[in-house]
Amino acid sequence: WKPPVTVAVTGAAGAIGYSLLFKIASGEMLGPDQPVVLSLLDLPTSMDKVQGVMMELADCAFPLLHGMGGFSDARAAFEGVDYACLVGATPRGPGMERKDLLLKNAEIFAAQGKALNAGAPGAKVVVVGNPANTNCLIGMMNAPDMPRANWTAMTRLDQTRAEGLLAAKAGVSVNAVDRVVIWGNHSATQFPDISHATVGGKWAKEAIPDEWYKSTFIPEVAQRGAAIIKARGASSAASAAQAAVFHVRDWALGSRGKWASMGVISNGSYGIGEDLVYSVPVVCYPGEYRRVGGISIDPYAAQMMEATRKELIAERDAIKHLLPK
Ligand code: NDP
Repeated sequence: WKPPVTVAVTGAAGAIGYSLLFKIASGEMLGPDQPVVLSLLDLPTSMDKVQGVMMELADCAFPLLHGMGGFSDARAAFEGVDYACLVGATPRGPGMERKDLLLKNAEIFAAQGKALNAGAPGAKVVVVGNPANTNCLIGMMNAPDMPRANWTAMTRLDQTRAEGLLAAKAGVSVNAVDRVVIWGNHSATQFPDISHATVGGKWAKEAIPDEWYKSTFIPEVAQRGAAIIKARGASSAASAAQAAVFHVRDWALGSRGKWASMGVISNGSYGIGEDLVYSVPVVCYPGEYRRVGGISIDPYAAQMMEATRKELIAERDAIKHLLPK
């Protein structure tokens, strides 16, 4: 018997939350023998919806779901949690500039960083709500008692999108694709890098035409979210929830030697500099991740990595006055 672990999900009444909460309660995220308690946070105006989601969770009679609570106050929601999936974020409204979006979300994530620091300084955090990397940075900077390594931003959906596209192009199952890397920001400037990837045991660079990689694959991965909105009339939600499950599952249980991409605080390696939440390849061991070091970076990759780094610096500059000194 294992004691339950508590997982907070913000934006619990939203579309991603609606998929994610059920996956966590079923054991998909933390393992089939790990009981969980769910803490659902959303805005005061969404509390009816949160109640409805909790009714459905109860109706599933998940054997691993040992308790749950709905909250509109971050301090109460985060008290003593082991994991926090920060999904809720303000969407870009009509006429809203990117800068306004950054500022509005910076306020939310500064408050959530403070609340986690006060009530759950050992929690492991994944930020999904956009702009995820910069939201993660501001949350982390407002949580001085928490290890910085405990704050991560999700780029796993970009990774799985890239793996899916590569597998389809090569005509192999996605299991045959390994070591695809997402560098940088979870945005259109991200760099999905196949320089080190293998497809069915062969180097992807040898199996895949370079022209397709640069002119089709990279933009398709970056624009996949927009393509889904166009096709479905709503943004990707189930796949984003699945990616959050993979991200936390690897972190909690280990990735068995596989590379996974995560936005983590930069430490000067690969010319990324410091104090940016930048996606890099990691390998996970139960409860921790380690950056993959010593990867060779060719001139094309260096140029792509620099472009996404510049965007992250511009995002950080836009919210600089909100970062604690
Ligand atoms: P979703 O659940 O669809 O999305 C939530 C966030 O995840 C958005 O910022 C979205 O970014 C982001 N996201 C990251 N990756 C992806 C991806 N691959 N595909 C789609 N989205 C992605 O949004 P809803 O509007 O349905 O729900 C949001 C909920 O958050 C609402 O219930 C709202 O009340 C709540 N909220 C809670 C707050 C809080 O807890 N303090 C604060 C603000 C809102 P993008 O918009 O770029 O798609």
